[in-house]
Amino acid sequence: MSRPLYSWGCYPHAPQTAHVCSWRSEVEALRDGVVATHGSTLPYGNGRSYGDSCLAASDQVLHIPAMDRFIRVDWQQGTVQAEAGVTLAEILAIAIPQGWFLSVTPGTQFATLGGAIANDVHGKNHHLRGTFGKHVHSFGLLRHGQELLTCSPTENTELYAASIGGLGLTGVIIWAKIQLMPIRSCQIDSTVVRFDNLAGFFALSAELDHQHEYSVAWIDCLAKGAKTGRGVFIIGDHACYGSLEVDERQKLHVPLTPPVSLINNLSLRAFNEAYWRMHPATRARKWSSYEPFFYPLDRILHWNRIYGRKGFQQYQCVIPDAVAEVAMRELLAAIADSGQGSFLAVLKRCGNIISPGLLSFPLPGTSLALDFPHTADLAALFLRLDAIVHEAGGRLYPAKDAHMSGSDFRQAYPAWEQLEALRDPSLMSRFWKRVTA
Ligand SMILES: Cc1cc2nc3c(=O)[nH]c(=O)nc-3n(C[C@H](O)[C@H](O)[C@H](O)COP(=O)(O)OP(=O)(O)OC[C@H]3O[C@@H](n4cnc5c(N)ncnc54)[C@H](O)[C@@H]3O)c2cc1C
Repeated sequence: MSRPLYSWGCYPHAPQTAHVCSWRSEVEALRDGVVATHGSTLPYGNGRSYGDSCLAASDQVLHIPAMDRFIRVDWQQGTVQAEAGVTLAEILAIAIPQGWFLSVTPGTQFATLGGAIANDVHGKNHHLRGTFGKHVHSFGLLRHGQELLTCSPTENTELYAASIGGLGLTGVIIWAKIQLMPIRSCQIDSTVVRFDNLAGFFALSAELDHQHEYSVAWIDCLAKGAKTGRGVFIIGDHACYGSLEVDERQKLHVPLTPPVSLINNLSLRAFNEAYWRMHPATRARKWSSYEPFFYPLDRILHWNRIYGRKGFQQYQCVIPDAVAEVAMRELLAAIADSGQGSFLAVLKRCGNIISPGLLSFPLPGTSLALDFPHTADLAALFLRLDAIVHEAGGRLYPAKDAHMSGSDFRQAYPAWEQLEALRDPSLMSRFWKRVTA
């Protein structure tokens, strides 16, 4: 038996027993065996979801990453068909030398294809290309008591929509075919500038987002008063010149989990101040490889361990455009007041491209994401933040969540009942049980 699995935040602390799926032909029998003994199960990719959406209600998961074979690639059209356990890193490793890149990528390349579809992940180009699901041509879905179904915008369309952002509940995605986008170089041509407050962020975003493929900002979540929302704005595009050769980046790693979190108010304040100051006050251009631009945290393997044995939670919400600036100011004030927060608070404007997914997270507005060490005080802060998000008509991201109330979820995702109607009865997560109970 392999070691137990957890979600990325290690909260809730709910060890998962892994039932390893190595071959496509084995999944059905394996799933049926687990369900016969434990009542239900859930597909699990690489556990890069922070909260409890990748944890099975039975704590018995179907572990997909060993299903990692490429099935068909077409370098003329830029399409890849692969098993669901293939990671985004593995796709990039073969696609970049051929002049192709993922149309949409989240901030980790260790997500699997199945996990990226099931959370309908988004990236720094949401304003131009929407979510990952928008670039999925088709996938094979295995449901209890049915033959393997091909789902696409023209076949089994209801299940296609429900499975994109379907949180692994509509069936096991066995394979998927996705569309890549052409690039000329693996370098990123980026521009960085710091801004003094939240208004500065919204001004830069309005001016620059539509001119660039990628746009994101880091903000200092502890800055108060006139400095609320100060941060660093980053835009980027795939460079026109340079090579398509990918250099292997050396990885660092956190070898063990300390008993307590290494993140505290003092270390956080010092880091945030220094990080803000080291960035230029006027726009500076630079070229970098794609990895530090998209995946800065992936360089440190097991970085989640720095939060100690109690783990951590990420809070990610999106607030509709009309009230985004006001609500973000309230959220940041509440966070700064609490003195809790993380090194990397990320602000990003989402665009208005509709996802094919039924329960997709982004909406036209602004998203805020930040990590918090798990402490006894966190519940009170989250209640305060939830009230602001609720009032503003925003919503939280299930892929990052371990606390949202059932009523907030059901109000923010009214299509949840359609997903429930299409749920494969053999699949159930801790998240779904919590928010639909
Ligand atoms: C450093 C970091 C940065 C991140 N940045 C972003 C970001 O910018 N944008 C964003 O959207 N997300 C981001 N995420 C979240 C992450 O991209 C998603 O949680 C992603 O879904 C994780 O994929 P996974 O393969 O690890 O899946 P898991 O976390 O293991 O599972 C996720 C969901 O997919 C389901 N699932 C997995 N495999 C299958 C399958 N074969 N069939 C059906 N369902 C399946 C699971 O049941 C679960 O519901 C980030 C995470 C980290 C750690």
